Amino acid sequence: MAGIYIHIPFCQKKCTYCDFYTEVAPQLIPNLIDSIIKELDIRKDYLPDSAINTIYLGGGTPSILSKEQFSKIFEAIFSTYSVNEDAEITFEANPDDLTTDFFESIRLLPFNRISIGIQSFGDEDLKRINRRHTAFQAIESVSNAQQAGFKNISIDLIYGLPSQTLEKWEKQLDIALSLNVQHISAYGLTYEEGTVLWKQREKGILNVVEDETMNKMYSLLVKKMKENSFEAYEISNFALPNFRSRHNSSYWKQESYIGLGPSAHSYDLISRQWNVASIKDYINAIEINTEFFEREELTFEARYNDFVMVSLRTAEGIDLITLEHEFGIKLAKYCLQNIKPFIDTKKVDFSVNRLRLTSDGILISNQILIQLMKV
Ligand code: SF4
Repeated sequence: MAGIYIHIPFCQKKCTYCDFYTEVAPQLIPNLIDSIIKELDIRKDYLPDSAINTIYLGGGTPSILSKEQFSKIFEAIFSTYSVNEDAEITFEANPDDLTTDFFESIRLLPFNRISIGIQSFGDEDLKRINRRHTAFQAIESVSNAQQAGFKNISIDLIYGLPSQTLEKWEKQLDIALSLNVQHISAYGLTYEEGTVLWKQREKGILNVVEDETMNKMYSLLVKKMKENSFEAYEISNFALPNFRSRHNSSYWKQESYIGLGPSAHSYDLISRQWNVASIKDYINAIEINTEFFEREELTFEARYNDFVMVSLRTAEGIDLITLEHEFGIKLAKYCLQNIKPFIDTKKVDFSVNRLRLTSDGILISNQILIQLMKV
């Protein structure tokens, strides 16, 4: 099984916390779509003999594309790859794009899952981080998606936004849970160097949420999700039964995927490669048929580090039998030996040959991971 990721790197304006590669350059959309379709053809052998199980249009803001632009992409995918009949086909969207007209226009496209970047249901928060939408539009977007027939809806939230209190976060969660969505991703705010939000923090003009409150927010998140039958299947991802994101799960299970478009990453089980993070350079390189990506062959240690890093974040944890089978007894012992202090202090649960983070362990997951890495 394999997946296709397509990066649509356009945003109408930049959110203050975001360090993804995106541009405000809608005039380049038609040329970019043509280049992505050419890239699909150039790299049609990247996933040899693999049936496609998931397709994911991420960004940026894929919901700014027109029906015709989406259709062109799908025609190219379906004529290049064999796509499973029950493939999960997701697009990311900004709430203010999700009008009833928009859903009417995409009615015949093969999407069966939508991921809505809500981030907050508070207008003050949304303004502070320069989001395009309002709290009202956030709620309305979910309702519009449901009325359009989407039965697999994910929403993204951020906790620890400046000035957010535990009470305000609880209110956010209550609103989210009242919307009858099937999947919630919730990320703790990080201040990425160089972003507007990072600069504001450096100037001391933000009321930054302290680590202790962040931890309480995460614990509240886990508690509320559990009470509402959402399974914590990865540190930041919660799903009702049978609604795990198959696309993201395939990353965590180390399955191969091809990433198309500027700055998209690909993985073929032996190497990673990433496309140039510039729309213009990408379009030009595809046009004149020169190299548009960098590639790194993964060493044995890098593959072990990837395996441990992604497995530990999931509910299934690190399977020691698989680890030993893939990487040998020496590395399995190394992992077990280095994680032992965390087992002893109940930060990690060790049972049936699996190592899983406990709720206390999740709060120090980075600290644990560092001890398991091979450099
Ligand atoms: S819409 Fe998403 S990708 Fe675009 S700037 Fe905001 S967070 Fe970044």
